[in-house]
Amino acid sequence: MKLSAARWARGTLAAILALATLAQAPTAEAQGRPRLPIVRDAEIESLVRDYTTPLLKAAGLSPGRVEIVLVNDLAFNAFVAGRRIFINTGTILDSETPNETIGVLAHEIGHLAGGHQERLRDQIARAQTIAIVAGLLGAGVAAAGAVSGSGSVAGMGSGLMTSGGGIAQRGLFAYQRTEETTADRSAVTYLNKTGQSSKGLLQSFEGLMRANMLSGVTRDRYVTSHPAPQERIGTLQALAQESPYYNKVDPPALQLRHDLARAKIAAYNGGAGKVRGAFGRDLHSLPALYGDAISTHLAGSPQIALQKIDALIAKAPQNPWFHEVRGEVLMAAGRSEDAAAAFSRAEKLDPSKSGLIQASVGQALVTGGRDDKMKTAIAQIERGLKSDPDNYNAYQFLAMAYGRMGQVGDAELATAEGYWQGGNFRQAKIFAARAQGKFKPNSPQWRQAQDIITTKTSRK
Ligand SMILES: [Zn+2]
Repeated sequence: MKLSAARWARGTLAAILALATLAQAPTAEAQGRPRLPIVRDAEIESLVRDYTTPLLKAAGLSPGRVEIVLVNDLAFNAFVAGRRIFINTGTILDSETPNETIGVLAHEIGHLAGGHQERLRDQIARAQTIAIVAGLLGAGVAAAGAVSGSGSVAGMGSGLMTSGGGIAQRGLFAYQRTEETTADRSAVTYLNKTGQSSKGLLQSFEGLMRANMLSGVTRDRYVTSHPAPQERIGTLQALAQESPYYNKVDPPALQLRHDLARAKIAAYNGGAGKVRGAFGRDLHSLPALYGDAISTHLAGSPQIALQKIDALIAKAPQNPWFHEVRGEVLMAAGRSEDAAAAFSRAEKLDPSKSGLIQASVGQALVTGGRDDKMKTAIAQIERGLKSDPDNYNAYQFLAMAYGRMGQVGDAELATAEGYWQGGNFRQAKIFAARAQGKFKPNSPQWRQAQDIITTKTSRK
């Protein structure tokens, strides 16, 4: 489990760096740019991946070339930037059915396929997201400079669309409306192609509009960037209802996965109370029990949490994420070898083959500290990093494992890679230079170090 609690999102830099789970670059913070609480979680990533894959194919895009980024924010939001789809965890929590989230994703993929973000209106949004993404990858300065004439990137907040900022607002919204309608149409096409209903998309937008009208002010970022006057809703409704799939409901297994993800999000963003709020009607359902077990774990009661998660595993022994949470609980209880076994079980059951889980097995073994396990630990972490090199926290564990094996050069190289992935190029180059001296010229490690030393900007 790699989700962070909401309080971390606005925590100090030290707290964020200490938290194993936030993929946040120190450079973004140092330069005062907006930061996104990016989170990594194998279960939710796998779910959103399964939501987007068929839609991307229907849009003629290659799923392997589009990255999903989870933002741990309870506000309803989703957007695309470059080849990345960003989705707030709040969007999933707010969606009672998979279909509602899928609808929003289909709409965003409509923007992606239409190349909308490349056009005028998104110059601003782009400036903003490029800054964020750049921070994420640590390529801050170069990317921010690419958005020329945009002034202070840091100053662009959520008040952006209403503040004018040099662009005629009326023209802006007219332009936007066309794109929104196009994205809606594309979304319905993808949903039809994949045999899914467009009802969820409609419900999401209707819900947002209602909430917005009640509050009287447009404070919701998503609503601001997605103007949806009644006529747009009307057009969407007509389109959606034409579909033969309009009344089709999500498969029960998918609904369960969706609810388990919601329970986890609720637990991490408000504990037991939030879980009860979301699943109050049935406290004995798997999602409610799952949210309760995670809340207990987060409240610092590993013994009780372990009993609760074991009860869940007894009910659904094949669920990989129950084993993953069990591993997290065991780590908290100081039983790292048992945790490694639990993560290993999760890895075997995980159909998405998440690199995060693969690395977790190794990280737990490193924490266990047994010399005879270090080789396995290294193999596991390297396997995980191969499919998921952004998991920069894992490099620290890799360095520790190499350190224990007495392979100082490899340890320094792993540290250099970790700093690089975290966006700290200076430290990365220092460690790469140190490592390089310990390898034969032109050996693979020597070249890996050379790569870090000589690369000037982003290597993504
Ligand atoms: Zn849109």
